[in-house]
Amino acid sequence: MTLGARLTIDGVTKRYGDTAALDDVHLVVEPGSYVVILGPSGSGKTTLLSILGGFTEPTEGRIHIDDTDVTDLPPVRRPTTTVFQDYALFPHMTVGKNIGFGLAMHGIKGDERRRRVETALELVGLPGTGDRHIASLSGGQRQRIALARAVVIEPRVLLLDEPLGALDLKLRRQMQDELSKIQRRLGTTFVHVTHDQEEAMSLADTIVVLRDGRIEDHGPPDRLYLRPSTRFTATFMGDSNLVDGTARATAGGRVEVETTFGRFSVHGRAIRDTPVTVAIRPEHLRADDTGGFQLGEGRVVDRHFIGAHQRCRVALGHTELILNSPAKPALAIDQIVRISADLDDFVLLES
Ligand code: ADP
Repeated sequence: MTLGARLTIDGVTKRYGDTAALDDVHLVVEPGSYVVILGPSGSGKTTLLSILGGFTEPTEGRIHIDDTDVTDLPPVRRPTTTVFQDYALFPHMTVGKNIGFGLAMHGIKGDERRRRVETALELVGLPGTGDRHIASLSGGQRQRIALARAVVIEPRVLLLDEPLGALDLKLRRQMQDELSKIQRRLGTTFVHVTHDQEEAMSLADTIVVLRDGRIEDHGPPDRLYLRPSTRFTATFMGDSNLVDGTARATAGGRVEVETTFGRFSVHGRAIRDTPVTVAIRPEHLRADDTGGFQLGEGRVVDRHFIGAHQRCRVALGHTELILNSPAKPALAIDQIVRISADLDDFVLLES
């Protein structure tokens, strides 16, 4: 069992000419945690991971692993290993040789090497495959071998760059479950980059949302999903209905908001008489009047059956809302429905 290290990212900026791929990023990753860096393409995820692994030098800022400043250390001298999206396996070598390669570089030989390779293969669910050739493996198996090759040298921080990006959706979801089990068994600090918010939510202790090289928001998945602090997080992490309004009165950590759906009071802070936005998740809207707040009557303009639920667009006056409700009773296009919700599920976004 390798114990994970603490990672401290202190004011890291990376500039390419006039472009700032990262802009003053500060983050502490707790030992043994599973952190997912989530963001759209071009937000700086790969650059950040590459700086942590020592493949890219930051323009400014420092990286500490536990108490050691590793900013100027090359990859091999850091207690980190990176799993790349394309796996970077040696196609002409057997599975065992691929996994044992890093151990050989560290001078670990003979029986101990064989034993550690086999343990790593067991960990990824492929025991006894050491003699097989890489070319004979499926995509999912190659992914596991890449993971085994990374964990066999017992890094204190494992860096994963879109590690499941090449897999089809079903295998991807299955490997997510396995990754999370493996991480818990090893206790290694995992930093995993993805643009897939579902993957991020299913794996992370902490999600870090990157946008244009800056940290937009970070926290546990449920907090980010249920109480996003910004418009970007609310819409990037799943769907949200964004309702514009005006802050009318503020007191005791609550704000009275005036909207086209009437006035209501939500948690948060705002300046009186300024525009505000309230986010409401589609699954928090009800197609009946059982919620604590009535938004009004609407007409169903679109409906899709998604298996576990139905997804509708409902027009209320000039506004359209997305609503996910249980599949039964089925709603019909043009049906008039009352829409309600609980005010606790309304989230006032930072302006
Ligand atoms: P992501 O992984 O989130 O897609 P990247 O870290 O790859 O984002 O890129 C962030 C930004 O930095 C992008 O605007 C990208 O074009 C730029 N960038 C990344 N690497 C380089 C490079 N080697 N040279 C110039 N610009 C780069």
